[in-house]
Amino acid sequence: AAVLYIVPTPIGNLSDISHRALEVLQQVDVIACEDTRHTARLLSHYQISTPTWALHDHNEQHKAEQLVARLSSGKSIALVSDAGTPLISDPGYHLVNRCREAGIRVVPLPGACAAITALSAAGLATDRFAFEGFLPAKEKARHDKLESLKEESRSLIFYESPRRLLDTVAELVAVMGPDRQVVVARELTKTFETIHSLPAAEMLEWLRQDDNRCRGEIVLMVAGHRPDSEALPAEALRTLTLLRAELP
Ligand code: SAM
Repeated sequence: AAVLYIVPTPIGNLSDISHRALEVLQQVDVIACEDTRHTARLLSHYQISTPTWALHDHNEQHKAEQLVARLSSGKSIALVSDAGTPLISDPGYHLVNRCREAGIRVVPLPGACAAITALSAAGLATDRFAFEGFLPAKEKARHDKLESLKEESRSLIFYESPRRLLDTVAELVAVMGPDRQVVVARELTKTFETIHSLPAAEMLEWLRQDDNRCRGEIVLMVAGHRPDSEALPAEALRTLTLLRAELP
């Protein structure tokens, strides 16, 4: 029967692909991808000659219908994105959703994902975390988003563009305070991989010192909010205020 395989691809180092992923890419009838030229480089490196098909974001719904029709006629398809795991800040949602509605088997393969790769080396709490994808590009929306996450106790993971990293870290200092721990993971699995951890205000300084520190592909992580153990609970504060008013 037809199967839609979800196949992660490397996030920078071509060796980061599983044997099983290569087998699936070899065996399927069609590879649905984000950018056929980008995927062609990976396929030629591994001498895979399976035909590719573009699944552009703006016409994904229409393309998804066509792919579901192909799957219904018994063809198998592998879905890949330019890098990492499809659907994670990448196209594929409509296709997977339609396949599941149509009763077509969807088989996910495990593999590279920038968010998880970054978190595993960040030194932040990993027992609970929140993946927030890309922050809004507009200043006000980005501010509001960070404001809404200010008291989130889980570690936060964002994908960030090199053009906006400085502004975002400045905003983090303003909203979450200078001492909140921030980790910037850059160019993971590539030649200039760096993972740097500092309190927000120091991170801002460090990034400002050298343009190269903002270049390339970036995962930005922020420690979760820790309630101040010195601070009294609201109820106790109210009682204290009442007591004080009664004291001579
Ligand atoms: N689907 C991908 C995944 O599973 O990680 C993410 C796709 S998203 C369009 C691309 C963003 O992922 C980049 O802007 C960057 O924030 C992050 N990213 C991808 N590769 C990376 C790498 N090698 N190092 C750091 N961040 C990376």
